[in-house]
Amino acid sequence: TSDHRGVQQGSDEAFLGQKRARKEEEMELGFLRFRQSLEKGEEALVIKDDAIVGLYHAAATELAGDFPPLPQKGVLHKTVKGPWNLYFSLDICLAFAAEVKEVIYYEIEDGLPTGEARTLKISAHKLDDAAGGSKSSRLTPEQLDEVAVHICIKLEEHQFLRFGASHMEAALDNHGILVFKGNQPQVKMNGVAIGPGCETNLFHFNVRPKNGPICGFDWPPLIDVSFMAHRHNKTMQGASLKYHMYEQKELSGKICLLGCHKYFRNSGMTKLAYCECEEKRAAATASQAAGGARQPRRNLAATSSMLHDKYGPKKDVVCPAFLKGKCGFVKVDAKRPCGFKHDMEVDPRTIKCAMPVSAFGNVCKNGGRCGYLHDNQEHYDNFVCANISQISYIRKVEEINFFLKILIYHIGRIYMTCKTNLLPWFVLHHQARQLLSEVSEIAESG
Ligand SMILES: [Zn+2]
Ligand SMILES: [Zn+2]
Ligand SMILES: [Zn+2]
Ligand SMILES: [Zn+2]
Repeated sequence: TSDHRGVQQGSDEAFLGQKRARKEEEMELGFLRFRQSLEKGEEALVIKDDAIVGLYHAAATELAGDFPPLPQKGVLHKTVKGPWNLYFSLDICLAFAAEVKEVIYYEIEDGLPTGEARTLKISAHKLDDAAGGSKSSRLTPEQLDEVAVHICIKLEEHQFLRFGASHMEAALDNHGILVFKGNQPQVKMNGVAIGPGCETNLFHFNVRPKNGPICGFDWPPLIDVSFMAHRHNKTMQGASLKYHMYEQKELSGKICLLGCHKYFRNSGMTKLAYCECEEKRAAATASQAAGGARQPRRNLAATSSMLHDKYGPKKDVVCPAFLKGKCGFVKVDAKRPCGFKHDMEVDPRTIKCAMPVSAFGNVCKNGGRCGYLHDNQEHYDNFVCANISQISYIRKVEEINFFLKILIYHIGRIYMTCKTNLLPWFVLHHQARQLLSEVSEIAESG
């Protein structure tokens, strides 16, 4: 089944201690890094992985070159705010980054543009081949294979991140099993871990019975783990975890490695229950053949058109929000135009604003510079800006402007006075003093 295959793919070669003839990929790998480039006053947005793939897809299909429609080797995000790595052959990464330096992400909620957009800078990188280290062991892989059984526990989605290796080691101990070595492999590419935060849902252990030989031990069908339900609530919860056993010379052919871990009828073992997995599997296959339907898989063409609809360019798509008074980009000081098409014939001042009103400053979500028409339009027209620090900043600027005007006025007067010499010297003196007092007054006010 796919379960078993998944485990074998995720297995750590060094761990197995078996030289498997694995076809090494010749293609040199790299990745395209998408990073939010923030302008002054912008905060990083949470962007979903599929949006990044969608932005790549839209750009790749517009280019003349032969770019794959989707990443070839995986997607990684360091945080929900990026950066994101899309993995391809290095050639493709370099060619793409040479053509596309940046893309713009438009945030859309419930089908409407929120007014938030971010520039994502794109760069190409070679996959770093520095190998990640794993827990060291005094036994060589060959020695481990002699004395221990390599088992793997694969956590299901609802179990992931709920148990650590320590919970599982304690559970194995309760089953009378000794752990030599444990390891939680990372997602790997060309045998190299692709980055932190990419630990897989597989746990590998090299184990043997605490007492007696490996063959003959009553291996448990499941491993019963107990763990703390919550950090603050000390009650314990339990779970029974499936595990797989790898080929081991004392056990292979005698025990059910991938299923129930019971001995086969012809293994010569007595007094223990026998494996019935084969019978159960045959029954399941028969019932599936009798009418079990397969889950349909989405094909590339469907994925492609979905990505296009959702994240592709919108320049030719009429903005679903503009005429409704709901477009977040309709503001005098918008950093970017809306990604959708707006009817340039229509003046937004003739459209009644339908943006929700925010608590601060009693203005709509677009702020004091909203370009739509409001019932209390005067309030908006007089609205300078949305927060106190900006208001005090603008006051300073106004004071400085005022000061400069006075200065220019007085310089002009002094110049004229000197030039025409129509006024007596004390008038000149008076004007100079007035200038000084005004300057010091402004200086004192901060
Ligand atoms: Zn994610
Ligand atoms: Zn079995
Ligand atoms: Zn719009
Ligand atoms: Zn408004």
